[in-house]
Amino acid sequence: MIRTALRFHAPASLGEATRLLDEDAVAVLGGGTMLIPLMSRGKRCCQSVIDLGRAGLDGIEDGSDELIVGARTSYTALAASPLCRARVPLLAEMAAGITGGAQIRNQGTLAGSACYANPGSDAPAVLVALDARLRLHSSSATREIAAADFFRDAFSTALAANELVSHIIVPYQRGQHAYQKVKFCEGSWPIVTAAATVAASGTRSLTLGGVCATPIHIPDIDSHHVDEQVSHSLRALWSDELAPGSYRGALAPGLARRVLARQEEQGS
Ligand SMILES: Cc1cc2nc3c(=O)[nH]c(=O)nc-3n(C[C@H](O)[C@H](O)[C@H](O)COP(=O)(O)OP(=O)(O)OC[C@H]3O[C@@H](n4cnc5c(N)ncnc54)[C@H](O)[C@@H]3O)c2cc1C
Repeated sequence: MIRTALRFHAPASLGEATRLLDEDAVAVLGGGTMLIPLMSRGKRCCQSVIDLGRAGLDGIEDGSDELIVGARTSYTALAASPLCRARVPLLAEMAAGITGGAQIRNQGTLAGSACYANPGSDAPAVLVALDARLRLHSSSATREIAAADFFRDAFSTALAANELVSHIIVPYQRGQHAYQKVKFCEGSWPIVTAAATVAASGTRSLTLGGVCATPIHIPDIDSHHVDEQVSHSLRALWSDELAPGSYRGALAPGLARRVLARQEEQGS
């Protein structure tokens, strides 16, 4: 139960939403699948909630060579979108594979996951793998930031207190991808994720999630030297209640080799 009095705003436009960010102690509400439980447990306190549900930020637009994903777009909408499946199939595959059942996939948003920045979530590493950008707004400015620069630490991003994410811009994918993760069971969160993609330059890239506090991106992965490249790229290993860092670090090279082999198989 949320015990403190709250002001609830449901602005009808992005401009109205950003003006509300100038108030003290505001929280932006995406799908609420993380924010509401945190508030109920007293782990997140605020005086006002800004619900983006009526601000016109639903939907996926075709930007010719990139997708423009509104902040309120759910995993279900991404997974079902013919445009997303055709142009950025890794994003559609990731969205379809989020656990927690239809409730979480219908309600949870890509932007909410990015802003929450849980190292164990699928979205941060997939957004880095896809070279995505996040569009951030305050009442006075708009800026775009690469996903690789957005994730600063565990549960910490480049988002300022007076900013929100309006859209996530994802370039059309090039070449074949593969995506794999290690989980304890079908319904659990990922322990380690691995995405093999083809970069704009044509080189193969590997992006690991869940191993360190922020995604590990290796732009020129060489399938003959995967173990060395992965171990050189790792920083302080991430631990939480699901798995210690030592376990995550030990899983990473094998999962990397497996996802790269899968990418080769699918491309042949
Ligand atoms: C049972 C369960 C299973 C799950 N399984 C997985 C899984 O397998 N893989 C996985 O990756 N994730 C998983 N998740 C997490 C899920 O991805 C997140 O709950 C979800 O993406 C958060 O999105 P949301 O829209 O509900 O965010 P919210 O809960 O609304 O917000 C999360 C945080 O982001 C902020 N925020 C939200 N939107 C914006 C915005 N536009 N601008 C600025 N700040 C914003 C909020 O203020 C809050 O701090 C699971 C969650 C649950 C409950």
